[in-house]
Amino acid sequence: MTLPPLGLYLHIPFCRQRCDFCAFYLEIYHEGRAETFVRSLMQEIGLSGQQYVTASRPIQSVYFGGGTPTVLAAAQLTAILSEVRAHFTLTSNCEVTVEAHPSTVSERDLVQLYQAGVNRISFGAESMEDTDLIRIGRPGTVHETVRAVTQARIAGLTNINLDLIYGLPGQDLESWQRTLSHCLALEPTHLSAYALTVEEGTRLDSNIRRLRSPEPDEDLQIEMDEAAQQMLVNAGYERYEVSNYAKPGYACRHNLLYWTNGEYLGLGPSAQSYLGGARFGNIADLVAYNASLTANLLAIEDCAKLSEKEQLRDAVIFGLRLIRGIPSPHLHQHAENYGHATITAQLLAQRLIEEDGNRSRLSARGLLQADTIAEQLY
Ligand code: SF4
Repeated sequence: MTLPPLGLYLHIPFCRQRCDFCAFYLEIYHEGRAETFVRSLMQEIGLSGQQYVTASRPIQSVYFGGGTPTVLAAAQLTAILSEVRAHFTLTSNCEVTVEAHPSTVSERDLVQLYQAGVNRISFGAESMEDTDLIRIGRPGTVHETVRAVTQARIAGLTNINLDLIYGLPGQDLESWQRTLSHCLALEPTHLSAYALTVEEGTRLDSNIRRLRSPEPDEDLQIEMDEAAQQMLVNAGYERYEVSNYAKPGYACRHNLLYWTNGEYLGLGPSAQSYLGGARFGNIADLVAYNASLTANLLAIEDCAKLSEKEQLRDAVIFGLRLIRGIPSPHLHQHAENYGHATITAQLLAQRLIEEDGNRSRLSARGLLQADTIAEQLY
């Protein structure tokens, strides 16, 4: 039996500083710490290659995420990619993405990444208004984002994503529309637009509690979501997931694995994996991660084998984020498994979920409440 292709996620846990809204596990970049980490990650790649039979299991996508992968030198990132190639089989058209902060890459870095086989770059633009960036403590300028996109294209990296966040403190509908227009002028192949959420313990959370920053306005975020959909679809992008838009043929193959309950292996501190019906995750602590790999042991902290019911639950919850939705029998089987028949019937009656032939999907209004619906169906 041929197993379906696998995704490989590599977590680079460093940033130069923490943005006000960010609650991800990360470490502040330090050259020595980064060198030790790269050695550990190389070790983990070798151990994982031995552990997971990969000759018949080619890797269809490699994703360097973080943190900010590009705080590492381009030579370190390309060495990691070479190590991946040495221990795993990559498909001939493997999608290789690097997340990048625009201020951390030069044209030379981008050329080096492209020549090593990186074929997709995802820039954390967040906004195309400098005042927004200052208000969320995100270092760098819009000018640097524009420069990085231009240089990426010159380097040969034509598959470009821009990550945006809307509902930022002080941002209004007009400034969000200006951000979208500015992004469209850069002609990326892919755009991600996320509603700002306030995570507990972040500087943004503290600023809101101290009345130094306004709380996100949900009604305004709904208007912003609608504006994004309208402007991006008119410009030829397809909305294929709650927060993701792509030109035809440019949906992110790696992220599609998450939403289709596909399998992926995550390496690096805090990285999560889903393989062989089990979810497992690495320890979210760089020192403990390094110690484990120095002892030639994988740094897996927890592992849970999912029952068939749990696998179906995850397929329903993640799959509903896709605009194409899921097979209707899966939704109804999950409702029966978890005693969700009443809430499912209500969501259908309220037309938050729509059924069309054999598929169920979130309606336009449902998309705006995707997270709440997912909680109700969990
Ligand atoms: S650059 Fe990204 S990962 Fe790093 S602190 Fe900012 S939001 Fe978090």
